[in-house]
Amino acid sequence: MILDWLLPTLIATLILLAGIGAIRRANLWRAGQAEKVDILAGLMAMPKRYLHDLHHVVERDKYMSRTHVATGGGFVLAMVLVVLVHLLEINSQILAWLLLAALVMMFCGAVFVFKRRLNPPSRLSKGPWMRLPKSLLTFSLTFFILTLPAAGILPDSFGLGEMGQILLGLVFGVLVLLSLGEMLFGMTWGGPMKHAFAGALHLAFHRRPERFGGGRSTGLKPADLGGDSHGVAKPEDFKWNQLLGFDACVQCGRCEAMCPAFAAGQPLNPKKLIQDMVVGLAGGTDEKYAGSAYPNVEVGKAVGSPTQVITEGLVSADTLWSCTTCRACVEECPMMIEHVDAIVDMRRFLTLEKGDTPNKGAEILENIIATDNPNGYAPGSRTHWAADQNLSVMKDVKKVDVLFWVSDGAFDMRSQRILRAFVKLLKAAKVDVAILGDEERDSGDVARRLGDDATFQSLAKRNLATLSQYEFNTIVTTDPHAFHCLRNEYQDFDEQGALQEVEVLHHTTFLNRLMEQGKLSVAEFMGGKVTYHDPCYLGRYNGEYESPRALLSGLGIEVAEMERSGYRSRCCGGGGGAPITDIPGERRIADMRMEEVVATGAELVAVGCQQCTAMLEGVVEPRPQVRDIAEIMADQLVEGAA
Ligand code: SF4
Ligand code: SF4
Repeated sequence: MILDWLLPTLIATLILLAGIGAIRRANLWRAGQAEKVDILAGLMAMPKRYLHDLHHVVERDKYMSRTHVATGGGFVLAMVLVVLVHLLEINSQILAWLLLAALVMMFCGAVFVFKRRLNPPSRLSKGPWMRLPKSLLTFSLTFFILTLPAAGILPDSFGLGEMGQILLGLVFGVLVLLSLGEMLFGMTWGGPMKHAFAGALHLAFHRRPERFGGGRSTGLKPADLGGDSHGVAKPEDFKWNQLLGFDACVQCGRCEAMCPAFAAGQPLNPKKLIQDMVVGLAGGTDEKYAGSAYPNVEVGKAVGSPTQVITEGLVSADTLWSCTTCRACVEECPMMIEHVDAIVDMRRFLTLEKGDTPNKGAEILENIIATDNPNGYAPGSRTHWAADQNLSVMKDVKKVDVLFWVSDGAFDMRSQRILRAFVKLLKAAKVDVAILGDEERDSGDVARRLGDDATFQSLAKRNLATLSQYEFNTIVTTDPHAFHCLRNEYQDFDEQGALQEVEVLHHTTFLNRLMEQGKLSVAEFMGGKVTYHDPCYLGRYNGEYESPRALLSGLGIEVAEMERSGYRSRCCGGGGGAPITDIPGERRIADMRMEEVVATGAELVAVGCQQCTAMLEGVVEPRPQVRDIAEIMADQLVEGAA
């Protein structure tokens, strides 16, 4: 029968083409910069990373996770068995029956993929992705029928005469070519199934392997300073495994749905950005992109190649400056792609090489360099806020239990109220605390997010040199951005070991410990309905969702949660230097967040970040009150009771 030779020939040809495609694709990734990975350990870890870590994110959407397990799992199993039964022609009814079972599993999954695609949400890419469910259904049905004789269910040659066999052979030959072609050829030559091939390797060679197994890895990697160029100008300036990571994108648009800048109509869509990076690494234009565009930016005009400067034709600088570095996209991405790393890498080129930081960016960076604070206040005024606080200063006491890292709230009158409230609580709990006073410098957070890693590294090193002179067990701060730098980013520069064995805590975590130890006593809050806004740099960056809520609950407050809270909380719009670069959109992110506050019916929104307080209080009244948890607690403090 014609199928006896046609089928193995088609399968073998497509496997060969897939192999050639794989080599071709891998060469595109290899155009990137060197990055050391443990190849063997990565490959060994890949199945667990796929089944556990990736599945954990997909599982947030139960429909999709079950659909994916059935379709993907069914396909992998079926493909192995197709090779055994139809290519190697192993004569085993058991294998044939197993293949039938795998194909039924895949078919069931594909039916749900099909249903999903009948009326797809706007975040899903269309185009070739609309073809995929049909290819999946065709693959499973075609091979199901072709396997029936091997399973002994139908006679060999399907009991047909010569003409019937030729006709059947030709029809099935075409169906195999189309469906298996999509599965194998498309996987390595750029079809929708590319995500399976690149995704598996991306999991194996991920740049942050510590993210797997429930770990957190959020600190930016240091820029190499002093070389010929800084940051990422062209796609080939990315590390090779970053390029591989871009290719793993499945265009699910979960990042797009979470991005505050996209929702605000700023010219950013993290999904489109990743797809533009794919255009850049492979060369070409974005005219085949079939998903939502950057708001108010036409699709089809972007052109890129591995050696072409990204911001000269592929992605506009405004797109990169729209990001608040909130990590909502990274947290949501089932392929564990690192959008923020890529965005800051490209900002580094704009800032360090071109001096092209928009709006107030250059002025703020100059201020930080000249005065160690973003607004250019006289460095000597850093401790004015504490003139009446009777606080110990490190250079006097040298050794203390807790060092209070004040951060730049010291220069802002609104933030000073938060600092004073926190000090009131520390004193009530009789904490052995001191501040650095005028020796403290800006943490470097804003400089780093704006791409000025040189200034950040200089600040980090000078702060660490100061810290290394003193002895303390804990650093506590009311500023989640400084908290993140001290906790997750300073270690790369801490040659003196100033922060070794030091616990860095956010003030809500610290206050929660004091409450648990019975060192603070508070009266019940009677002020009406309260909601809580999770700061990105506390929640998604550091996993602290519980302490602020425990403190509010300790005040008798039952938090009226917003629709987006916890790991899905929406940014206030204040991170990543976004208020400084100030890229126009259709709405303000803080206004959208305040709408979510209002939707809960709360009269008060509790926060744990000076930046969030400033952003949310910047929303025009009438609106609910905005207060830091330390302020709410300080008002309810029962002094002398603990
Ligand atoms: S980090 Fe936040 S603002 Fe930036 S692309 Fe991701 S979701 Fe959008
Ligand atoms: S980057 Fe991640 S979340 Fe965004 S579309 Fe691609 S796979 Fe989905």
